[in-house]
Amino acid sequence: MIPVRHAVEIRDLHKSFGELQVLKGIDFTVDPGQVVCVIGPSGSGKSTLLRCVNLLEQPTSGMVVVEGLELTDRDADLDAARRRVGMVFQQFNLFPHMTVLENVTIAQRRVLKRGKAEAERVARDNLDRVGLADKAGSYPAQLSGGQQQRAAIARALAMNPALMLFDEPTSALDPELVGDVLTVMRKLAEEGMTMLVVTHEMAFARDVADRVVFMDGGVIVEDGPAAQVIGAPQHERTKSFLRRVL
Ligand code: ADP
Ligand code: MG
Repeated sequence: MIPVRHAVEIRDLHKSFGELQVLKGIDFTVDPGQVVCVIGPSGSGKSTLLRCVNLLEQPTSGMVVVEGLELTDRDADLDAARRRVGMVFQQFNLFPHMTVLENVTIAQRRVLKRGKAEAERVARDNLDRVGLADKAGSYPAQLSGGQQQRAAIARALAMNPALMLFDEPTSALDPELVGDVLTVMRKLAEEGMTMLVVTHEMAFARDVADRVVFMDGGVIVEDGPAAQVIGAPQHERTKSFLRRVL
């Protein structure tokens, strides 16, 4: 039998900030091409979990493996690992003084050392992918929040990540702009992108996710098929959370 290589494997992950234990033993995996949505109340550790997967935070203990590379191994090539993981935040974090095209080329040029022509070609391909082909020359302030977030998604995609992390990508958007961003994410999922998505969009989680993970108080309370966790939750804490958000 060929062993399955997970896209992400997390084993007994703990993270504390001083005395505060935020992650108290997290175990889960994401397989290549899977979409896993993480839901749970504010403060439950969802962002900290994502930040441990792309090394914005150093885990206190436990194991994080991305694409077969153990990030928690002291000898791991962390820069190489980081390049495999794209991240999209609630706040889009575009550079305000650069055009959209410059925002989507700068990391390609500085980190991947791509030449100008290639970086611009990749940028335009990815702007087209998120429906922003006509906004390459605009500045972030000239775009709606939804367009800025799609530019941020194009910027992450331009690095050819094996895995995309999304941390509440639509939470800062006006309600009428949420749909365009979710449509782009849905398309990425259909194209087979491996995605780990923290979201409060239950319809998106139910329709798009292969699995839904419910976190509360730094532990995973429930992990299963989206239809089951959202449609027929087993645990009281999951039920009461869903009653509040649905
Ligand atoms: P969520 O994304 O589920 O709302 P977070 O992972 O952001 O939760 O936060 C979980 C807990 O960890 C919160 O109590 C938060 O205040 C705390 N926390 C997060 N980051 C830090 C940090 N850098 N330093 C200290 N405490 C933090
Ligand atoms: Mg958060």
